[in-house]
Amino acid sequence: MVVGKCNIYEFHFQLLIFCFCSSNARDCFCYLSNCITIHTRAMIKKYYDFWLVCDDNTCGRRTMQQAVRGFGCIVPSCHGRMKQEYDEAQLYTQLKYLESLFDVSRMKEKKNLSEEG
Ligand SMILES: [Zn+2]
Repeated sequence: MVVGKCNIYEFHFQLLIFCFCSSNARDCFCYLSNCITIHTRAMIKKYYDFWLVCDDNTCGRRTMQQAVRGFGCIVPSCHGRMKQEYDEAQLYTQLKYLESLFDVSRMKEKKNLSEEG
């Protein structure tokens, strides 16, 4: 995903952001803030899209429709269960990761510990 002069790469739960703006720190902060906001909204949208995938690897069914009989796969020869492609645990982990990246008080504590130790 390219936002302005920032490139965002999502690698597992790691978010890699490269800012190529050669201007001042304020502009870089604005680009970074926009990148994080857009990425966060995309993750929340991905969660609320509620895509379901069959856990049987041979089936590979992917749908947004939930079957009447619960989370069972509706493909006749499949005995798999439909599970959410991007569940609340993944969204929570992603948001906590982003929070940890910009937690100033935590970074100050870490810096103080490293200076003392
Ligand atoms: Zn299936």
